Amino acid sequence: MTLRLHDTASRTVRDFLPVTPGKVGLYLCGATVQAPPHIGHIRSGVSFDILVRWLKVSGLEVTFCRNVTDIDDKILRTAAAEGSPWWAVAERNQRAFTRAYDILGCLPPDVEPRATGHIPEMITLIGRLIDSGHAYAAGGDVYFDVSSYPAYGELSGQRPKHMRAADDVEGESAKRDPRDFALWKGYKPGEPSWETPWGPGRPGWHLECSAMATKYLGETFDIHGGGLDLVFPHHENELAQSRAAGDGFARYWAHNGLVNLAGEKMSKSLGNSLLVEAMVTKVRPVELRYYLGQAHYRSGIEYSAEALAEAAAAYRRIEGFVTRAAGAAPVDGNAGSPASSLPAAFVAALDDDLAVPQALAVIHENVTEGNTALAAGDLAGAAKQAESVRAMLAVLGLDPFAAPWATESDAGLRDVVDALVSVALEQRQAARARKDYATADAIRDQLQEAGIVVEDTAAGARWELAR
Ligand SMILES: [Zn+2]
Repeated sequence: MTLRLHDTASRTVRDFLPVTPGKVGLYLCGATVQAPPHIGHIRSGVSFDILVRWLKVSGLEVTFCRNVTDIDDKILRTAAAEGSPWWAVAERNQRAFTRAYDILGCLPPDVEPRATGHIPEMITLIGRLIDSGHAYAAGGDVYFDVSSYPAYGELSGQRPKHMRAADDVEGESAKRDPRDFALWKGYKPGEPSWETPWGPGRPGWHLECSAMATKYLGETFDIHGGGLDLVFPHHENELAQSRAAGDGFARYWAHNGLVNLAGEKMSKSLGNSLLVEAMVTKVRPVELRYYLGQAHYRSGIEYSAEALAEAAAAYRRIEGFVTRAAGAAPVDGNAGSPASSLPAAFVAALDDDLAVPQALAVIHENVTEGNTALAAGDLAGAAKQAESVRAMLAVLGLDPFAAPWATESDAGLRDVVDALVSVALEQRQAARARKDYATADAIRDQLQEAGIVVEDTAAGARWELAR
């Protein structure tokens, strides 16, 4: 079985066949850096991080490009409202996004291009569109001529005559057709601008992604990703302008579902409580990653504090098992495994349009079996399950003993704590042997106060950190 992916353009799940065998080019629409990220933004990062990891484990060489939109109307409005330069707003929020991606364990992209660093590529693309009769300059702006491209609407499945007007230009505009969208926005006083053959101005949002995707991944590339809210108009317009210019562009369109709150799409009006930086003070980052990654990437997530707590508890159950198993038998610090060593049901789940819920079910089954083995004192059986569980967790970016969740110093410290706790447990055992139960209980209570839970099993006393 090979990977099958849902493609928004064809509305089907189809076999994934890369343009170049063995290689994958993936473009993900990243942050528009007008504010720090909330969990809705970062869900997209986590979803595509799992895809990138799975492609790599499947033996493919991945080039992952995730852009930063560092100029747009909202950034300019934020800058004006707070009296800061636009580039300072963009820089500050880009750092917040990078921190959020890092803290949730998302692998960095191979390239993270910024829109304002790619003006020459955009000018070239506009020139190609004007030369081929698909774009026109008017009133200082440059527009894509929707009527010149009959396939317009193919990605989002709309008929052009039923489409709404593109609301990307404020006030009076020189558009020939209300559905035409701006490739380039003419200079307005107080706004930053760049020189072009059609006059000074700044890029339209859609244009930048077409210019950057093809620069780094080629005229035709494999997968274009983003949130479901980007299908129209953003991705429809990217596809139209790139195809009209003669590029093959993306062969698969992958879209992640949104995070909703009481049925509403998350927005800034919900305040700051769902910002990633606030959320990671309520649960550990690894638990937030588990929560955001556990649903199928195409389904919506209805945010609730209860669901988040349940997800955190589910992760702690898995983590508790691998930690206990590690306490019982030595662990290999490196769980990066090829797909061939993973359970077949887990591989089949991820190959089936990245079915993480089914993949997690396999992990939970192995944890149950592993816990049974531990309780029976079958340390070899438990170690085998733990190894399998960790290999699967690594694919999902959730292995508690791997970066960024565990560091070298954590591992060293754990050995020291283990040695100290062992001394205490030996004294407790000696107290019990001489029937001095008061001392034995006092030792256990002192460990408990220090945050260490002792459990007596058939194989002797085991400890773990209280949570
Ligand atoms: Zn984009």
